[in-house]
Amino acid sequence: MTDEQMGFVGLDAVSKSFGAFQAVDDVSLSVLKGEFFSLLGPSGCGKTTLLRMLSGLEYPTKGRILVDGVDISKMAPYRRPTNMVFQSYAIFPHLNVAENIGYGLRPLKLDKAEKARRIGEMLELIGLTGYGDRRPSQISGGQQQRVALARALVLQPKVLLLDEPLSALDRQLRERMQIELRAIQREVGITFVFVTHDQEEGLALSDRIAVMEKGRIIQCATPRTLYERPSSRNVAEFVGAMNFIEGEIVDDRPDSRFVKTRGFGVLALPPSAHCGAAGRAVTLAIRPEWVSVQHPAAGTGRFQIVGSTYFGDRCHLRVTAMDGDLALTVALMNAPVLTEGMKLDVILDLTKVLILEKR
Ligand code: ATP
Repeated sequence: MTDEQMGFVGLDAVSKSFGAFQAVDDVSLSVLKGEFFSLLGPSGCGKTTLLRMLSGLEYPTKGRILVDGVDISKMAPYRRPTNMVFQSYAIFPHLNVAENIGYGLRPLKLDKAEKARRIGEMLELIGLTGYGDRRPSQISGGQQQRVALARALVLQPKVLLLDEPLSALDRQLRERMQIELRAIQREVGITFVFVTHDQEEGLALSDRIAVMEKGRIIQCATPRTLYERPSSRNVAEFVGAMNFIEGEIVDDRPDSRFVKTRGFGVLALPPSAHCGAAGRAVTLAIRPEWVSVQHPAAGTGRFQIVGSTYFGDRCHLRVTAMDGDLALTVALMNAPVLTEGMKLDVILDLTKVLILEKR
């Protein structure tokens, strides 16, 4: 990779091993200036190790890391233009809110008025004007996390690194903080690299997401592309709920792909879907909301309801084919009352169904 290709934050073939264990394996990526970029993946996939290499808490075994054109691969943490916010807020209990925020400013030797101005600006940014004199024990968990964020931002880093900063918060507060975090990032315009294992959080916050598995990036894309066009079954399984149906390509024409399936016969799918030569085994991937149900005449219907989960705004139905072992999850908004055992027909939105390589 050339320096230009590496973008504002660039990783070029970065690997990290701990003894014989390869925690990060040949990762290259390029983050744009001002982007909210997330690393998403299951526990142990290497995302924290990647973030720690950006912060200087770990050094790569191989590869280069660039920030704003400068190679920081071997630079000491305190010299890097990065700052980090941790899951445990790590704010000092013996200092008040303003002192916590101003802590990192001490080496800059600013005059008192400038320091107060910067702290005041941060308090306003995080909505805690008037809370400067309080101790951490006198503010809520969400407010403490905002103080940790302000303490990192006051130094105006080029890149802010965030390691699951919202995971200690309860669900409602976490959702509120997600909106705030996104708004703060837009306002300050600083590049954020955010680590999470929560796919909903990743989708809600990010401009782009790199999905990691076993130390590698398996797809890097916008939230919409990851959700609607996952490139593999592994990504599709990790991001959101997905139905999978095994099939075989029977014909490939310019305007349609024909796939023979066990439960739905031969389906004509749009040419945008990935394909292969006739005879190739594939997996069809279908989101629950790409499936709808129809109520046939009483007593008929190819599928039967075997379970349902109510989420308030939507309902997930589990249905199985009467004549086979095909099972699907269907998402319904404003679901009418449907009971277990009820028979119905299932319709797939063929414009959306994806063809993935069989694993
Ligand atoms: P989590 O979401 O659980 O924090 P993660 O994706 O952030 O997971 P990492 O913390 O990056 O994962 O760890 C990746 C792998 O590297 C894990 O298998 C971990 O056990 C291993 N690992 C991390 N740090 C060390 C270390 N200092 N020594 C040995 N192995 C390590």
